[in-house]
Formats: sequence, structure tokens, C-alpha cells
Amino acid sequence: MSAAELLLVEQRAGDGDGDAAHWILEGGRILPGVDDNRRMEELRRGMQRHSGVRASGADADSEDVEQTLSVLHEPDYLEALGEVSAEPVVIPELTPPGLPPDIPVCAGLVEAAREGVRTAITAAERLAAGAPFTYALCRPPGHHAGPGWFAGYCYLNTAAAAVQTLHEAGVRPVGILDIDLHYPNGTAAIVETMADTRLHSLHASPVTNVAAGTVAPSSEREVVVEFAGSPEASAYLDALALSVEALAESSAALVVSLGYDIVAGDPHGCWGFAPEIFTEIGRLLAASGRPICVIQEGGYALDSLAECSFSFVSGLLDGAAA
Ligand SMILES: [Zn+2]
Repeated sequence: MSAAELLLVEQRAGDGDGDAAHWILEGGRILPGVDDNRRMEELRRGMQRHSGVRASGADADSEDVEQTLSVLHEPDYLEALGEVSAEPVVIPELTPPGLPPDIPVCAGLVEAAREGVRTAITAAERLAAGAPFTYALCRPPGHHAGPGWFAGYCYLNTAAAAVQTLHEAGVRPVGILDIDLHYPNGTAAIVETMADTRLHSLHASPVTNVAAGTVAPSSEREVVVEFAGSPEASAYLDALALSVEALAESSAALVVSLGYDIVAGDPHGCWGFAPEIFTEIGRLLAASGRPICVIQEGGYALDSLAECSFSFVSGLLDGAAA
């Protein structure tokens, strides 16, 4: 048995001012925002309980960040984000098709999102350089950010940035597995235009972040697995095993959009899993035999995040060593 290692890539700290989520429109109600740096602290604390986790800073070049973003997002969109001030504003033109704005944007959040992309790119670079497992501990999340829109706390698409980085390093095809509670409408829209990329998403139904009448999957490269109501752990893990197997067969590496909002008590959640579900999820991923780049998406239950991230790395690393 050899000790497996996971490289934890930590996001650069901003100035600590103005990069917390302000509010979010959910189910017709305005709720206080719960995405802030305390999430990162809890997740880091949980991961560092495992001796196989090694931490490193996000050091991708700013030029690489800009270049990658220019492939994923529309020029007008990036320009508009670059012009926002410290005051939070709503921009109705920059919302997902057919949906009202659900979050505001401000300069501090755009800056944090850019650092999130730098973190994702760094994690993908290390994976391409030979690390078996890397984990981009980043925020805000990215999977609801589309080519020309922001929503659901997401401004720039971190998972797509990781895929693009792997592609540029010659790692193809890449499979994206999204196991956040919510449908990755942004990632799906970007994947539609990316060759050598497949997306599987397991998420709650009904999906609320696409306009009524929208068909998912949106392309033949996308597979959706939906659960109406909180699933049994066995049913969920069986479905997950099928997706991991299918993606592993067709991909040289996996990018995992990992959300911890599937656990009981999440302020944006509705499922009842215990944090230990992530041990099983980690084990299934380790069994794929593929290099894995994890991108942090949602998960907002501050009192259980450390247990979730510890469970995940335990399953992944102990599974890989078994
Ligand atoms: Zn989510």
C-alpha cells in the first residue's frame, strides 16, 4: 500500500473587503448571501486533517488567466465585469437567457472570481504535470456562470477554465462530473462549444436555473441524472458509479465540480445526506484510475463543511492507496 497524495491549491487572499456575497434571489425570495471566505477556512481545516494533503498557492500567470477567460466568456461580458465598481449592482442584460437577475455584482466579487479562476488553472496545470489528484479550493463557485452571464453566486466558470487548461496541455478528452446539488447551467452552455469534453451532472429536480421549457441535456456531450426529492444514498451512489465509469472510459482526466450542498442542513439545500456520503464519493472517484482535478463549487453549511471535505479526501486518498 502506497500513500496517495492530494495537492490542495489555495486561492490567493484578496484584500478581505467586499468579496462576500450580498444577497441571492431564490424561490421568489431575497435571501442574505452565504458565500464568503469562512467557507474556505472550514473546508481547508477539514482537508488538512488528512496527512496525505499537501498545500500549495495558486500561482498561474495573470496572462494565462486572461487568455483562458477570453476563450470561455464573451468579450463584452468580460469588459462589463471589468467596469463594475465597489458598489453592488444588478445587470439585467447579463443574466441567463429568460431568467431575472438573482445576484448583484461588485468589483470585490469579480476580483475574487478571477482569483478563483487562477486557482482552478493552477490545479489543472499541476494535474497535467503529473499530480494524480489536485483540488482547487476556490470561491465564489463557477458552474452557473455562462459565456455571457452570471447567476447563483457564480461570475466566471472555474471548471471550464480547468478543462481549457488541460486541453492546452494536451490532456484530451476531459470528462466533467458535476455533483453540486444544482444543475450547472453555465458549464453546460460552455461545454456545448468545447470539443473533447463531456459533462455528467447529478442534481436536484426540478431545475430552477434554466428558463421554463429549456431542454436538458443541451448537447450530445451532456448527461443529466435528476433526483426529485432527497435520494437514498444507495440510489445516488449507484447512479454516480455509472457516471464515473462512463466518464473514465471516455476521458484522459476528470474535472469534478464538487458541491457540498447535498448534505442535510445546507442553507441552499434540500437533501438529507450525512457528510460521510463524501467518503463513498471519494472512493468511487479513486477507483476510476484517472487523474482528478477537483473544483470547489457550492456547499454553505459552515458547521459541517470541515467534516464534508475531510470525508471526501479520506475516501479519495484511502481509496487510491487500497
Ligand atoms: Zn449548488
